[in-house]
Amino acid sequence: MKPSLVVVVGAGLSGATAAWSLATQHSSRVLVLEARDRVGGRLYSSGGAGAVLDLGAAWTWPSHDVALGQVCKAVGVATRPQFDDGSPVAELAPGQPRRFPPSRTFSEERRLAGGAAALPARLLEAAASAAGDSFELRTSCAVSRIALVDGGAAVEVTYRRVGEGDVGAEARVLAGCVVVAAPPRLVAAQVTFSPELPAPTARAMARSPTWMADTAKVAFVADAPFWRAAGYSGSASSYAGPLRQVWDNSQDLGGEGARPALVGFAMGDDAAELARGGDAARAVLRRARAQIDAMFPGADEHVTDETFLAWGAEEWTRHEGAGMREPAPSFGHPALRSPDLLGGRLVLAGTETEDEHGHMEGAVRSGLRAAEHAGRQLAPTGA
Ligand SMILES: Cc1cc2nc3c(=O)[nH]c(=O)nc-3n(C[C@H](O)[C@H](O)[C@H](O)COP(=O)(O)OP(=O)(O)OC[C@H]3O[C@@H](n4cnc5c(N)ncnc54)[C@H](O)[C@@H]3O)c2cc1C
Repeated sequence: MKPSLVVVVGAGLSGATAAWSLATQHSSRVLVLEARDRVGGRLYSSGGAGAVLDLGAAWTWPSHDVALGQVCKAVGVATRPQFDDGSPVAELAPGQPRRFPPSRTFSEERRLAGGAAALPARLLEAAASAAGDSFELRTSCAVSRIALVDGGAAVEVTYRRVGEGDVGAEARVLAGCVVVAAPPRLVAAQVTFSPELPAPTARAMARSPTWMADTAKVAFVADAPFWRAAGYSGSASSYAGPLRQVWDNSQDLGGEGARPALVGFAMGDDAAELARGGDAARAVLRRARAQIDAMFPGADEHVTDETFLAWGAEEWTRHEGAGMREPAPSFGHPALRSPDLLGGRLVLAGTETEDEHGHMEGAVRSGLRAAEHAGRQLAPTGA
């Protein structure tokens, strides 16, 4: 008899969506294996200072993010508008910011209440409560090998403990189907497949840089939204310092763990220096702080904490290569969505695999697609 278990590799938004859909709509037994000691992947809504800071994804565009909106609604995650009332700032030369009359920087962007990471957490909670003993999440478990066994009747998934505790210990589990919901290039570098994946799929995986893995976000937490009081929206753009774009991260003010904060994007060499850490990162942080002080009068008095997250330093996100600047990435390549991998017992998810690649919408769509495939594969009447 073939095993009825579906193993989901990765508890980011795509894996959490797949697990939720399998548990609630396909009645599958599900085991989620996550390498980090937390869920959410590129959705991370903390960072210290007791604040809800979106240091990974931040925005949803409701007119476009239809699948994301439906999933949010299903598990009760609300959205809030991105604050954008007041004067924006532009910095065209170092230390010379210019304040503009009140105008909007954002169009329809909204934020997930409680931070973007609330969504995968809620999806996994809902999966657990729907499936009971048929659902399990194991964190700090990195998958290293996926092999077709028993004459094609099952897949054997090998994983090892990482992080803390029994590090290096290997374990194996037999599944009827495996959903790999991790960045394709990272998977191509870290996971071996037996038999090898078809060349077009392996090539497309290696040619899909991990979306935004070469960026960083820097946050400045304040004791009050001092910029609002002075008529600023908190939105800024700059060609002169490490923070290229800055915005008001205080959408949850009044809610639990919400503190006023300005957050900004660092990219290119500045993001790479932040990922290097130590003195290199401290130098970028000093320049970023000087930008905030110059752009928003009162920052020197009100900013209490600063923090950053450089995704290039994250073992379970980063990749080799030029990232978003690569000339011909294979995002959304049809070979990434092949239904025939390992005889149909393996399906790839992850935002990079979708036509609508890159954003949370792609992650959700890929998770739903993968769950549909795995559910069909294991259905009593299925292939
Ligand atoms: C700085 C930044 C800003 C962004 N801004 C936005 C935005 O405003 N709006 C938007 O819609 N999108 C945005 N995005 C993109 C969005 O975050 C991603 O599309 C989405 O989170 C991807 O989800 P995923 O599940 O496909 O991948 P991930 O979130 O990368 O999840 C993959 C999971 O797999 C795990 N994993 C990796 N390898 C293994 C292994 N071998 N074994 C077990 N587990 C493994 C990882 O730890 C991770 O938890 C942004 C991303 C970044 C980094």
